[in-house]
Amino acid sequence: MTPTTTEDPREALQHGWPVGDGVSVVGSLPGDIDTNFRVTAPDGTDSVLKFVHPSTPDEVLEMEDAALRHLVRRLGEGTVPRPIPTRGGRTLHVEGACRVRRLTWLGGPTLAAVLPARIEPSASAERFFRSIGRFMGRVDLALADFTHPAAARPHRWDPLQGAWVQEGLRVIPRPASRALLERVLRRFGARVEPVACELPRSVIQGDGNDHNLIVDADDPWAGPVGVIDFGDLLETARICEPAVAAAYAAMRSGDPVGTIAEVVAGWSEELARAGVTVTDLELDVVAPLVRMRLAISVTMSAGRARECPGDTYLTVSEAPAWALIEALDGVDDAYLTARVRRACGRNPAPGSCRASGSSTRAGTSAPTDVPAASVPAEGLLARRRARTGPSLALSYAEPVHMVRGWRQYLYDAQGRTWLDLYNNVAHVGHSHPHVTEAIARQTGLLATNTRYLSQLRLDYIDRLAALFPDPLDTVWLLNSASEANELALRIARTATGRRDLIVQDAAYHGHTSTLIDASPYKAHGPGGGGTPAWVHPVALPDPYRGRWRAGRDADPGVRYANDLAERVDQLCAEGCAPAALLLETFPGVGGQIVPPKGYLPGAYAAVRDAGGVVIADEVQTGLGRLGRVMWGFETESVVPDLVVLGKPLGNGFPLAAVITTRALSEAFDTGMEFFSTFGGNPVACAAGTAVLDVLDDERLPANAECVGAHLRNGLADLVERHESIGDVRGMGLFLGVEIVTDRDARTPDPDTADRVVEGLKARGILTGVDGPDHNVIKLRGPLVLTDSDAERVVEAIDTVLSSRPT
Ligand code: PMP
Repeated sequence: MTPTTTEDPREALQHGWPVGDGVSVVGSLPGDIDTNFRVTAPDGTDSVLKFVHPSTPDEVLEMEDAALRHLVRRLGEGTVPRPIPTRGGRTLHVEGACRVRRLTWLGGPTLAAVLPARIEPSASAERFFRSIGRFMGRVDLALADFTHPAAARPHRWDPLQGAWVQEGLRVIPRPASRALLERVLRRFGARVEPVACELPRSVIQGDGNDHNLIVDADDPWAGPVGVIDFGDLLETARICEPAVAAAYAAMRSGDPVGTIAEVVAGWSEELARAGVTVTDLELDVVAPLVRMRLAISVTMSAGRARECPGDTYLTVSEAPAWALIEALDGVDDAYLTARVRRACGRNPAPGSCRASGSSTRAGTSAPTDVPAASVPAEGLLARRRARTGPSLALSYAEPVHMVRGWRQYLYDAQGRTWLDLYNNVAHVGHSHPHVTEAIARQTGLLATNTRYLSQLRLDYIDRLAALFPDPLDTVWLLNSASEANELALRIARTATGRRDLIVQDAAYHGHTSTLIDASPYKAHGPGGGGTPAWVHPVALPDPYRGRWRAGRDADPGVRYANDLAERVDQLCAEGCAPAALLLETFPGVGGQIVPPKGYLPGAYAAVRDAGGVVIADEVQTGLGRLGRVMWGFETESVVPDLVVLGKPLGNGFPLAAVITTRALSEAFDTGMEFFSTFGGNPVACAAGTAVLDVLDDERLPANAECVGAHLRNGLADLVERHESIGDVRGMGLFLGVEIVTDRDARTPDPDTADRVVEGLKARGILTGVDGPDHNVIKLRGPLVLTDSDAERVVEAIDTVLSSRPT
């Protein structure tokens, strides 16, 4: 871009307008193509002096001024800038080779200046984003009867005219980024182009971004009170207005899909108040229009970065726009549309108009479980009961019908957003686009059983093995942690020639016959038949509630290990020397326990001294959840003989593993071949590889450490306020809060624990209760949780515990 002026704004102002002497220039203002200055006249009034870019035709300037005057009449002074007439009563002053305009200064900061770069989901955030839509709706209602011959102009920022991005792609260097934009173009081609001429048209402002929306400095969350910059004013599909505003709002939002829906709903609400109905078709093209505006933005930025390196304003939205394009890439249009429709009070089921019913050629399929208000939860419950047995468990007194996951959020069929502090499978965040894309790509390429050579599998197990200390260098891939524990046990038994197993009280290791027997949580729980003779449970190393307690007994970890060693000696004496010790490094269903120092080394040594091996079940704690370490056993610098992994490995795609030593793997070679049809199939390996990529790229273990510490500190502060919190414990995003009726006696209080979990649920937060006394609140969730999520949880626990039971 060439600068448009060499003129002095002071001179232009004095020559063009009857201001007298004493003009001061407050400073230059960022601008898209014009060169702008804020100036103060001698009477103290501020205004904006715009040196118009030569590429803008006079008639566009005339249109803009006419629109601004029209809007001032409709909306009142102060909502939009008003053109200030020149000495000659015109709006344009010609100063040498330059054309200069002067507009009134709108008091109040821009939204970008006062609001946080990232707004986390909350009811007030929803209201705020809706207010943006409502404000743009007001502007559009006021523009509804405005016409100008220059309005229907070609304009590169108009999402409806975004097809030029196809040619602009060549300025995008990264092939993966180009591919993203190509998908946006394909979606646009399939969903918008066929219906473009049916969309109601109007003149719109066309640029409701956060640098143009003005808020009240004293009450910014009340929403926009003014808008500046009418350089993109044009006639197009009126739905482009909220689509553009939504694209920018979503860049700031922790819940982009919800934000898009809210902005559009606010706009539609405002139009409805004036008796103007937004059509279903308009709502159904919001998603591809939002994507297109983002694609235009990044393509423009890439072009400008080449032309004017160093001009940061021109590329101000580039990084967040890319991030949002990527984030939305994994979101189906059908789902986004359903959210928009629901927020607008319409039937969310797609298919009621052509656009939503058209094919999704862009390569993403419609969601399998589209939010549908027409399916009441009771109906699903009855079907579930009729078609499966009642023992197939559900969470919560009133079950939730989830239809979608995104990062740390889940969305139910009623359109509610849930903050997920429970699910530990969606390790790198629900529906991570990198993972879903890897799965989709691989399943379209090759999905076989595991009897073929596979580079993908070898690369994956190399990467996985590299995360373990020596001598753990051999990897077996399976489909579930139950299978992995089964295999680990088979290897241990084959290698030692023994059968017996030591486990911990209240442990859970899987749902197969053998593992139910080896899981006191089940075998000693409701419906359980007790542990068989070959299973030998030992005490949980619980330093809060167990036999040896931190703060009371010296070296509780060593004492628990000594107890275990005694048991091993006894077993050996009875002729039942153990094949293995199978233990969760940090017991999960046992109550989110961090074993006291000295336990793991002592326990490992005791079993090994007796000729047994150690199986570490790291299904809950592994892969960086603990933050500081990748695996729980690293906290004590011990190395197990076999490690079992499951849940998080595929981020929801079934994938589990046993990592062991070459010696044990060879000892397992008895002549019987090992075969698992799906274990480590190409799609699973693609998922696993993508999870490792994301873990690294997004530094999620470090995030788990920081956010986990913040959450733990917040919970620790609550201990002072609530007698019922007996203990706060854990590491990273593996945390537990133990609820008691009496802090001194440590009497478990399962009812209050349940009340807290249900109370959190009522506040949109998912957690769970476990522990042998059912009184430990488990806090975990995807590793993408943020500090503000942590604060929200602490605040909610505080509120629930402060309220009286009903
Ligand atoms: N081990 C542990 C510690 C677990 O938590 C679980 C599942 N809750 C399993 C094993 C079994 O995993 P899966 O259900 O994938 O077979």
